Amino acid sequence: MAEPVRISFLGGLGEIGRNCACLEASGQIVVVDCGLMFPDPDMLGVDLVLPDLSYLKENADRIAGLVLTHGHEDHTGALAFALEDLSLDVYGSSLTIALAKQRVSEAGLSSKANWVTVRDGELRRIGPFDVEFIPVTHSVPQGFALAFHTSQGIILHSGDFKIDLEPVDGRFMDLERIGALANSEGVRLLLSDSTNADEEGHTDSEASLQGTFQRLFATHQGKRIIATSFASHIHRLQQLVDAAIANGRLVATLGRSMTKNIALARRLGVLHIPDSALIDIEEVEELEPGRVFVLSTGSQGEPMSALALLAAGEGKWLHLGERDTVVMSAHPVPGNEWAVSKVIDGLCRLGVEVVYGEEAKVHVSGHASEEELKLMLQIARPEFFIPIHGEYRHLVAHSRLAKRMGVDEDHVFVCEDGDVVELTDTGLARVGEVSAAYLYVDGLTSEVGHGVIRDRKTLAEEGVLVLVCSIDTATGDVLASPQLVTRGWADNTQLEELSSDVHRLVVTSSSKAMSDGGFDHEVFRRDVRSSLSKLLMDKLHRRPMIVPVIVTA
Ligand SMILES: [Zn+2]
Ligand SMILES: [Zn+2]
Repeated sequence: MAEPVRISFLGGLGEIGRNCACLEASGQIVVVDCGLMFPDPDMLGVDLVLPDLSYLKENADRIAGLVLTHGHEDHTGALAFALEDLSLDVYGSSLTIALAKQRVSEAGLSSKANWVTVRDGELRRIGPFDVEFIPVTHSVPQGFALAFHTSQGIILHSGDFKIDLEPVDGRFMDLERIGALANSEGVRLLLSDSTNADEEGHTDSEASLQGTFQRLFATHQGKRIIATSFASHIHRLQQLVDAAIANGRLVATLGRSMTKNIALARRLGVLHIPDSALIDIEEVEELEPGRVFVLSTGSQGEPMSALALLAAGEGKWLHLGERDTVVMSAHPVPGNEWAVSKVIDGLCRLGVEVVYGEEAKVHVSGHASEEELKLMLQIARPEFFIPIHGEYRHLVAHSRLAKRMGVDEDHVFVCEDGDVVELTDTGLARVGEVSAAYLYVDGLTSEVGHGVIRDRKTLAEEGVLVLVCSIDTATGDVLASPQLVTRGWADNTQLEELSSDVHRLVVTSSSKAMSDGGFDHEVFRRDVRSSLSKLLMDKLHRRPMIVPVIVTA
């Protein structure tokens, strides 16, 4: 019997974001990615959502290393939070490490990680596994698929990928190596990116945008052009800049992360802009509109981003109007659609021409569609398959594809966050669960509890009712009619009709709270809250947050 290998999914299965998984053998753990997620609109006041890091913290001494597939925030963004409690060896490509390190340094935790840069195709011993870093193409340069050489055969983790046959940087996805692994030892288990599993066809090459951008600049001569995309989408930035320079424009950057990432990518040699083509953002307003091109942050409609401020007419360096064209070269991440449409509205109101959406063809996805996923399945020919990285419907669509491609029906597992599976000589099986709750981050404080989010929802949807009770705590007598103060209620007239019922209910709760030890405030609060809640539900069909306040005499 060879040693079993266990995989625990801490996030990323059932949502786009907070990707994190643990591979475990011989008592040692290798973590794959540690990402964040943008909150849903109903997670009120939440800035970020993290994977449940408790499994990592509880097993800190068993973690041999953390491997980053690529530099996107949904794979690296929770690292700074994990490093608050852990010290880790972190592996990744030079760009991935640079992007991750930048964020971790901002949190002042860079020294908690031992940063290890790996090259394309490199094989590294990490804990119980030989880990092979296989180049893939994606919407950030230098992404990897990971081949774990384990006691149970090869476990292939695709990372995020598309099969871009014409990559902007000429770095191809190493399909040949995946085929070689399949042909020699065989792929025992494939974990593969499901983001676009319900999209037919083949995702267009990043290079397909080149012509679009050339045309865009050619048809907007004399107008100022501002484009936004993810600041990590170096190849997109390169194509936009190339088109701008070819049309005789100078380039400025706007927004902290854009300016920082461009400097970082140029330093690493993955982005090429001659010094002579770059100008400071302060100079832009002084130049002819047709002479400049601005790369801005804010593609996701983030409220304080450079583009959102421009759309609100509050930009520090630029003021937009009819001479401007804004190119939205990104697709909103789920949860951000509303914010993005607000920004587009704001820009339109200023008279700006906005180029956005499917029709404009100024964006292509970084994730594989059906045909590429099928190709991956065909090349890897895995014995077992688990779809990863997607909302539940994407995982289901991908599992169907795998079956169609010949993976045995009972060898395909649709897993969710918290699932633990084990690969043994006899096959793959679900063996348990780990905690994989959402960890909410509000501002700078992490770990906002579920209770707080629930309270915020109640306040937002039902408002609050404060019940002020004047009570003689020596006798339990109610001294005056209770006062009801509401916030967030459209109509209070019905409440007035309930005043005698409320009075009666306060008297009852007050007598229940009296005992030998005197008046018990907690008993009173609990009892009055539940009976008032029932009354409001019965009579008014409302469930506000109820806050009892006791004024004692
Ligand atoms: Zn991702
Ligand atoms: Zn990605």
